[in-house]
Amino acid sequence: MSIDLKQFAALQKASKASFFDQQKLMKQVMAGKTVLCKTCNQPLKLYTPAQDQLTGIRCAKKCTDIALDFA
Ligand SMILES: [Zn+2]
Repeated sequence: MSIDLKQFAALQKASKASFFDQQKLMKQVMAGKTVLCKTCNQPLKLYTPAQDQLTGIRCAKKCTDIALDFA
């Protein structure tokens, strides 16, 4: 099996970018700002342990689903 290094680098870059996107999104949601899901345009909601066993940030359709640990 050979790995296309260029493809690999592009993949790493993309996941890094989405990581920072996610961080930004989390900060906005936690600050109480309305952030819409990029896929379905529904507002994202923060679920804390008091609200749901599955904690994190999700939209109604769960196309955006970021798991968060409230340890
Ligand atoms: Zn969605």
